[in-house]
Amino acid sequence: MEYSYFNAYSPQSPSYKPPKAPFYCEICGQGIYEGDEYIEKGGEYVHFECIPDIIWLLNWLGYDIKEAKDFGSYRD
Ligand SMILES: [Zn+2]
Repeated sequence: MEYSYFNAYSPQSPSYKPPKAPFYCEICGQGIYEGDEYIEKGGEYVHFECIPDIIWLLNWLGYDIKEAKDFGSYRD
């Protein structure tokens, strides 16, 4: 029966087992599989599509977002 065949491959089925992944995404917890785009930092992996926003990304990468202040002294 076509329906049960389809169901066996659905993540909702108890018999469904995802293929083993070499890395797992820190955000969604899903495996990172061949063909997926991802970023890596010191053994942590995140799908490129799971990056919530640029501020999250900069914080994760360890960048501070600075506010430009006291630039008056750099004027000619
Ligand atoms: Zn993910």
